[in-house]
Amino acid sequence: MTWIIKNEKPKIGVFSLTGCAGDQLMILNLEDTLIELLAKFDIKSFQEASSYSENTKLDIAFIEGSVSTDHDLKILKNIRENSSLLVAIGDCAINGCVQAMRNNQTSIAERMLDVYGVKDNVYNALEPKGVGEYVKVDAEIPGCPIEKEEVFNAFISLLNGDMPLIPDYPVCVECKLNGYPCVIIEESKPCLGPIITAGCDARCPGLGLDCIGCRGAIRGETNAKAELETLRKRGYNDKYIINRLRFFAGNFEDIKNLGVREASKGERDE
Ligand code: SF4
Ligand code: SF4
Repeated sequence: MTWIIKNEKPKIGVFSLTGCAGDQLMILNLEDTLIELLAKFDIKSFQEASSYSENTKLDIAFIEGSVSTDHDLKILKNIRENSSLLVAIGDCAINGCVQAMRNNQTSIAERMLDVYGVKDNVYNALEPKGVGEYVKVDAEIPGCPIEKEEVFNAFISLLNGDMPLIPDYPVCVECKLNGYPCVIIEESKPCLGPIITAGCDARCPGLGLDCIGCRGAIRGETNAKAELETLRKRGYNDKYIINRLRFFAGNFEDIKNLGVREASKGERDE
């Protein structure tokens, strides 16, 4: 896919909604290539890098963070109206991330009571969701946080009028290409690699660890029920597996509706 570049130096903004700002930090972590790369853009706003901010029309807006309050939603709509392209960066902006883990399970009032001791929605909180639930998103760069090489490649693609290319296959593919032993088969670890978007070069299995799903489930390709069944067969109970799946993908269509079966005695929960 391509897009039409109107300015020789595209005007860009990098914005945060609710999140830890780790994705902006990963852009800044480009270090050696950062100055040369960003010099090719006209930066109108970059919250984590500078207090300078110009409220103007943009060619590309990069947004991290979930929509978790009325205020987030207002900011998002304003950015969308004023940007030709909107790129969601990181799992918060794409799926709602950890703050969406209890969506559809507990009410906002219950969460307010648990965390702040009051039932009133004093922060005008919304169920945390990705930005695509509210506005059109032109491209996504997954991860918690994003991979700096992937964001570098995305900037270069956009400069050339192309849309960023993100893998549409699972972490297992990179795991096998690297020749790593499968931690589900060899050690019965609860790896989520079969349903998670590749692009991290199977970092965790490469260290002998199970994938916890930080790059989010693969849209349109994820078979969460099959993953649930695979981990059940390894002795994990439903509550544990579903919590694990919801950690980065509580809003994900195939995951949010998974129900807990009565756990049998002796099933693993860690
Ligand atoms: S270790 Fe995980 S990512 Fe690697 S093949 Fe097994 S399930 Fe897939
Ligand atoms: S292996 Fe899984 S948890 Fe580890 S970095 Fe990759 S996607 Fe994230």
